[in-house]
Formats: sequence, C-alpha cells, structure tokens
Amino acid sequence: MQTKFIFVTGGVMSGLGKGVTTSSIAKLLQLSNQKVSCVKIDPYLNYDAGTMNPIAHGEVFVTEDGGECDMDIGNYERFLNQNIPKNHNITTAQVYSDVIESERKGEFLGACVQIIPHITDEIKNRIRKIASDEELDFLIVECGGTVGDIESLPFLEALRQMRVEDGPKNIIFVHVTLAPALDVVGEQKTKPTQHSVQELRRIGIQPDFLAVRCTQPLEEKTKKKIALFTNVTADDVLSCHDAKSIFEVPQILYDQGILDFIFTKFGKVGMVNTSANWDEWNKIAESMVSQKDQKIKIAMVGKYVTLADSYVSVNHALKHAGAKLGKSVQIDWIDSESIEDFNKLSKYDGILVPGGFGTRGSEGIIKTANYARENNIPYLGICFGFQLAAIAFGRSVLNLEDVDSTEIKPETKNPVVDLLPEQKEVADLGGSLRLGAHKIKVKPDTLADKIYDSDSIVKRHRHRYEINKKYVPEFEKKGMIFSAESDEGKRMEILEIPDHKFYLGVQFHPEFNSRPGFPEKAFVSFIEAASK
Ligand code: GLN
Repeated sequence: MQTKFIFVTGGVMSGLGKGVTTSSIAKLLQLSNQKVSCVKIDPYLNYDAGTMNPIAHGEVFVTEDGGECDMDIGNYERFLNQNIPKNHNITTAQVYSDVIESERKGEFLGACVQIIPHITDEIKNRIRKIASDEELDFLIVECGGTVGDIESLPFLEALRQMRVEDGPKNIIFVHVTLAPALDVVGEQKTKPTQHSVQELRRIGIQPDFLAVRCTQPLEEKTKKKIALFTNVTADDVLSCHDAKSIFEVPQILYDQGILDFIFTKFGKVGMVNTSANWDEWNKIAESMVSQKDQKIKIAMVGKYVTLADSYVSVNHALKHAGAKLGKSVQIDWIDSESIEDFNKLSKYDGILVPGGFGTRGSEGIIKTANYARENNIPYLGICFGFQLAAIAFGRSVLNLEDVDSTEIKPETKNPVVDLLPEQKEVADLGGSLRLGAHKIKVKPDTLADKIYDSDSIVKRHRHRYEINKKYVPEFEKKGMIFSAESDEGKRMEILEIPDHKFYLGVQFHPEFNSRPGFPEKAFVSFIEAASK
C-alpha cells in the first residue's frame, strides 16, 4: 500500500494557523473514511519541547506514550479524536543525534557524513516509517517555521526529494501564506504570497495549493492574481478567512472543493464519501460555536498566564465541557504572582489552577487554593494545582509548621510534596519527568468514582514531585481524602474534600485527553458544579 503524503509549509510569518490548516485537511480526509495521521516537524535544536518555556513557545503537549511535544500535536489529537505518538514530532536534534550515533558506530564507514544525503535520508526514513508502520492512507506533514529559515532547509530539502522520488500522484504540497488588507475595505495584497512562493520555488518546491489566510474571504481577482504569479490555477488558491472558531475551518475548505482537488491530484477520483461521519462532526463543531444561555465564569490562576497558548489544552478542555453541557465558559487568566486581593475571586463560578513549575507565583496559588476551599467555590487543581492545594490544607487546616514542596523550599520541615524517589538520581532535566499514561486506581464511593464511573482510569502525567505518603492519614482525618492512587498505592493521584461543593485536585493532566464532543469527565463535573 502506498501512503499519500500532503506536505504543509508556511510562508510570510509565523502564527498564520498552519496547524489548524493541517488538522482541518486531515479531518476532511478522515471524514471521507481515510486512515490519516499528522506529523509535525520542528526545525529547532531542542530534542523536544519539554525544556521550553510555555510563555515563549506555548504549552508542552504530553502524548499517551510520554512525549513532550509541540502544541500542534494537541490540535491534531483534538481534531482527529485520535492519539498521536511522540515519534510524530520530529526535531532537528532527534535527526542529528541519530545520524551522529550511527557515524560513531561506524555505520557510514568510509563516507563523509553530510546534510545531503545523510540528514535528509534520516528525515525521509522517519516520515516513511510512520506511514508504513501505521498503514496510513494519508499522512499530513506540517513543517514548522517559515520558508527562508536556515534551520528548516534540510527538512524542506528532504520533502522536495520525496516528491521527486514518489511523484506528484503520491505527494502534494500545500503552502500557507497571508493576504493582508490594511483596513476592512482595503484591497487584499498579494505581494507577500508572491514572494513567499518564490522563496519556496527557489529551493525547488512548487506548491500544489495555496491556503491563504485573510480576514475577509479571498476575492476572485485576488485568487487569479496569486495564481498567475505562483504558477497554480485559481481553483488551487484557497481562502482561509477568519472564522468564529477553528472548528469551522474544515467546512470552509470543504466548500471550496479541497477534497475533490486532493483526490483528483492523487488520481483517486470518486473517493469522496460524504457519509454519516459528517453529521456527527457538524453537530460537534456546531456545539462548540453555538450561542448558549448560561455563561460560566472561570478564574484560571497560574504562572504562565501572559500567553493564552501556555495552557491551550486546558482552555480547550473547559470549552469542550461547556459545549457538552450547553453552557458558555468565559475564562479570565489571573497571574498568581501579582494577585493581592483574593476577594476578587469571589465573583467567579469556579477556580482552576493548572500545572506549573518552580517557586515564583506559588504562594499566590496556595492562597488561591485556600480561598476556594474556605469559600466553597468549585476548585479544580491540575498537577501543580493539586500539589499546592495539599500544601494549603496542610498549612491552614492541619496547622503544621513550615509546610511546603521541596521543589519550592528544599529544606522545609514538613515536605508534604516531595521529589519522586526515583528522581533522586536524575541529573538531566530533559525528558526525565514521570511522563505519559499511567494506570490509576479509583476508590469506591468518592467524588472521583462518581466522575469517572470506573475503578480504573488511564491518564497522562508530567511531574517530578508528588504527595508525600506519610502525611496522608493526617490529611484524611481532617477531611481531605486521597481518592485515587497509582503504582500499587505508591502515588496519590486525586484529592478531594467531600464536604465541599466541588474540590478536586489531580496529579495527572486531564486536559490532554479532552476532545470536542468527548470532553474529559473531571472538566464536565467541574463546570457542572460551577453552574449550580
Ligand atoms: N512542578 C510540579 C512537579 O514537577 C508540577 C508539574 C506540573 O504541574 N506539570 O511535580
């Protein structure tokens, strides 16, 4: 079986929504009963996204198999409602390390090891292996960065070679660009697109389609002008104008005939199957954008609130839960470092504390966890938000002296949160946390049991610290219950306060399992409690 490849490149500038275009094309093919998946190439030198600051780069998305990936992988999972393994996020470091390791083993003995062919071969092998291992009909490969970047050159060269080797019946290129208009009625400018396609052609790639970002739908005359200068037909210039929600983008592309064009280019005429899958997707997409009567106000108190993308999966998960319950969720991001008047939290229907690392802003989170507990405001604490909720309880209900996490205060007298024992020997910071999916046992007759309706769940993790088991009996005596655990009772995974309206902390990251139409259950229960 020959997998068909669609390579998505980007021009003009970053942030045009290449990830959404990639996900939307993949979704349309999936809705046409094709077996699809997506790959994200990140040309940076980090081995993975794990060591990058979320404020600069956006959230680190954790896959089921424990990859710390670019947040686009999260987009693919949400659009396709399918798990994406970590080998689908390819970086320069991974490619070079493998080639250098092979060279040291003597596998290229006698040869001068070079970017072309050795690095480009490794890139092609990785892409082809995914396609054949997973027996895919289509693999959509998104190349990060903007054409013209030095670091993406070896990747674009590898994609160019693949097209020469496999031919245009098996590989097409989609280039995402921008047609700016200087004001609402202004003319749509084509020059940035012309230049960006020229740059792409300079390195030997002629795009088959252009997906052009614009505020208003692309005018016919603009399409024609772009077509003329970029060597495609006007039909192959697709308008990617502003939509109310990213979930409308597949429909916008579909209405312009993209599926027919793709199948025709691949010689698969007549394969478009607009089957029942569409009804279900349309219902989900509609539920995400429709007007809702009740607005639920959620305060998200965290460390990386200056960039909405730092918690992108949490934001999505809240919206998925809201859509399922027919409620709109409004999120206010509050910086835990600068919050002084905690009474301002009283106007919210619920308080969510997402993941985080380090000392800065942690006192504000501890006070927030206390405020929610004392004022009976629904609280959902994720990872750091779970650990700091326990610290808040230890300080003010157990009245223990000097309660802290050793992450925040290594010499604390009462380390209610402490380093995972196996982490004591770990020296490297990259890829060394407790990562990915782990099985969790849920205790009967608890809130956790009510939420998940199962005694066993599997959730994704990303942490180095955990609840110190020695404090658990004291906590439970005073009303904070640990209702789920993992690794044969070694680790606490969920905390709750039965007397509270809704007080839940989870060591894992439920947000990575939430998808439109299939919201993660802890988020649904949280929004439900917040709406009462
Ligand atoms: N910093 C905490 C830990 O390492 C929490 C991590 C997180 O919130 N992802 O355990």
